[in-house]
Formats: sequence, structure tokens, C-alpha cells
Amino acid sequence: MKILNFGSMNIDYVYRVEHFVRPGETLGAISMEKQCGGKGLNQSTAAARAGAEVYHAGMAGVGSEMLVSMLKDNGVDVSCVCGCAQPAGHAVIQVNPRGQNSILVYSGSNHAFGREYIEKTLAKFAQGDIVLLQNEINNVPYIMEKAAEKKLRVIFNPSPAGEEILGYPLESVGLFILNETEAKMLTDENEPERAAKVLRRRCPGAAVLLTLGEKGGIYSDSEREETFDAFSVAAVDTTGAGDTFTGYFIAGIAQGLDTGENLRRAAAASALAVSKKGAAASIPVLAQTLAFLARESRK
Ligand code: ADP
Repeated sequence: MKILNFGSMNIDYVYRVEHFVRPGETLGAISMEKQCGGKGLNQSTAAARAGAEVYHAGMAGVGSEMLVSMLKDNGVDVSCVCGCAQPAGHAVIQVNPRGQNSILVYSGSNHAFGREYIEKTLAKFAQGDIVLLQNEINNVPYIMEKAAEKKLRVIFNPSPAGEEILGYPLESVGLFILNETEAKMLTDENEPERAAKVLRRRCPGAAVLLTLGEKGGIYSDSEREETFDAFSVAAVDTTGAGDTFTGYFIAGIAQGLDTGENLRRAAAASALAVSKKGAAASIPVLAQTLAFLARESRK
């Protein structure tokens, strides 16, 4: 079973600042780091580090060489990545001394997915393969419909959750992986168990995996409903926890893991990710995750 991820790739410019820039002010940054990011790139990286066969479908805009290299270096197949004349998607991230951030995103090439490209890419995959989507690219509804027509299994991580999601053809989705904010946006429910139920009622046949940060999460499908715990770790940087979880869980599906075991492995990988600084950089490889699980089970 292959995984095809239609997803964003961003250059993250991370600036340390004394305070966030104010209107009319010109402010010197203390330092700058250029990092690979975007939910699509992070999730492809996580699934590949978990050992799955992952194809990234993305628009490589001008300046995106480091993003494509990062994917390749992690074992992601980039043969579906397409060159694009628009600037690469990027984010300008200010981090203040309290560790808070303020983020400006420019979609750039991440909003240049054309219908012809989508169809040509989907044609390379067959019934039963997985199509993974987040909400950082354009034409998501079109990809959902075309993938479902081909009987590919659509997995949707509705992040970032804007109101437009309510108009997507969500009946095409086989599995939702989402956090509390995204669940609230889709269902208008604050209480997680209720939100999962409402979403399943609205999309019969779909499974729901609702993550709840350090509280773990809830998984439910037509056969089972179970909760799972997060591992207790000293969290240093929670950026990318959800992306690590999603990438690992999807890899586990492709590898035929039992759901309970898969939830535990994904929770272990994201616990490791939150114990280190950075987003893509902090995603563990499978051997590190398995070693962590072995240590935990001896406790
Ligand atoms: P998102 O990053 O999308 O908001 P969550 O915060 O719900 O996602 O985190 C996804 C998963 O990552 C959780 O279900 C949990 O297993 C793990 N996780 C997140 N935060 C922590 C934490 N502080 N300690 C341990 N595990 C965590």
C-alpha cells in the first residue's frame, strides 16, 4: 500500500526578536534560521521516517531546492513533485523571549496545484492506496472527489481549519485526523467525545482520530471506540506534534499495524518530537521510536 501526500512545502524563516514588530516600527532581529516546514512536508517526512513508502505531490516553487532535498534525504519519493514558476511557499516566524510566536504565511506555489497535475498524479496510484491531505494547498475538494472516484483511501487532516472546510466533499473522506480546534470548527462541539460522534454521524463510514495534546486522544470507527494516552515527557517545543502523529499513524496503516499498537507508536513518536526543539527536525526515526517504546514498557 502506497501513501500519496498532496501537501504544502514551506521555507520557514525563524527570527528571534526582543518583541513582535509593531505598526510603523523597523526592528532588527537577534538571529535568523532557515528551516524546512509546511504541514505537507512534515507529514511526508514523518511517514517516511516511520518506514513507509511515501510519495510527496507538491509544487516546487522558486527557491524550494532545500525542501525537495530534505524530502529526498528522508527517503520520500519526489518523482511526483512538480516545478513551478511561482515563489516557494514561506513563513516569517517571529519568536519573542517568552517563546511565543507570531507567524505570517505566504502560500506561493502551495496554491498552484492545477487540475491536470492532480489527475496525472492520481493516475499513478491504484485502488486501496492512501491519499493524504491537509488544508494548506488549493484544490483540496477536487483532489478528494477524484481520489474517492478512483477508490483511493482519503485521509484528511483539516489543518489549518478555516470555514471553507465545511463546504468540502467530506463524504469522500475515510479517516479524519484532527485536533480539538479543528474538531470544533467542523462540528461546533467543544466536548471531544461529542465532537467525534457528531463528525461520524455526519460522515458515516469515516473513522475519526481526535488528538488532545498531552491528554492523548480518541479513536473511533464503525467497530470500536477507544481512548489512548500521551506519554509523559518534558515538552520543549510542541510544534509539529500533530504532524508527527499523523505521519506515523498513516505509515502504521500502510504497514498493517493493529490500531491499538499504531496509536501507541504514533503517540510515542510525537512524545519524542515534543521533547526536542524544531518541527521537521525533531521527528524521530522508527528505531528511536521503538527504543522509546521498549524503555516505556519496562517502566
Ligand atoms: P496538534 O499539534 O495538531 O495540535 P496535538 O497537540 O493534539 O496535535 O498532539 C498530537 C499528539 O501528540 C497527541 O495525541 C499526543 O500523543 C502527542 N503530544 C502532544 N503534546 C504532547 C505533550 N506535551 N506530551 C506528550 N505527548 C504530546
